[in-house]
Amino acid sequence: FENLTLQGKTALSKISQLRKLERLATIDGLTNIPNHRHFQEILDNLIISTKDSKVPFSLLLLDIDHFKNFNDTYGHQLGDLVLKQVAKSICKNIRQSDLVARYGGEEFVVILPGIDEDTIKESAERVRKGIESLKIPSESGDLQVTVSIGGSIWFKHAEVKAKLIECADQAMYLSKEGGRNQYSEFKNQ
Ligand code: GH3
Ligand code: MG
Ligand code: MG
Repeated sequence: FENLTLQGKTALSKISQLRKLERLATIDGLTNIPNHRHFQEILDNLIISTKDSKVPFSLLLLDIDHFKNFNDTYGHQLGDLVLKQVAKSICKNIRQSDLVARYGGEEFVVILPGIDEDTIKESAERVRKGIESLKIPSESGDLQVTVSIGGSIWFKHAEVKAKLIECADQAMYLSKEGGRNQYSEFKNQ
């Protein structure tokens, strides 16, 4: 940028500072994927655009199984590595049009545009198997982790955002109750 005037350089550095701030505000520092707030925003926008297009979409909520036990046994640092690897694995096993975010501590959420009741299970199983087959290197050899997944479908289960998330959460608990390391779709009990 040698030819730039001082004003030009100042403007560029402002832009780069703003980008950094934006990144800090939207991306989770540990896993490098969108954070909870960013997820909520994207979902708001998707719901607005869905009103016109009527393109279906689905939500997956993932929770790592027995993760407290993992931390207690192998340490928090290795636990953090697991969170990074799980995030990476989810990214690898979703389409470019999907969005994964860190929902909370050891919970992740995936938005799947265009996915409906016919295809949600297939998408969830690909993600679940990807995580199951991770090998986490440790002093005690390679370790494995699993996730319980719940799925909910826009329009079929909910027509407001909070309900859609609630349905995915309830479905995730069905997977926990069913023995973990599995996927369940929301169903009215
Ligand atoms: P369940 O199969 O029922 O989900 O059992 P769980 O042990 O995973 O559930 P619980 O909610 O009791 O524990 C969640 C654990 O996740 C506790 C906490 O230490 C761990 N955790 C949450 N956030 C982080 C994090 O950022 N790093 C690490 N290493 N652990 C985290
Ligand atoms: Mg949890
Ligand atoms: Mg858990």
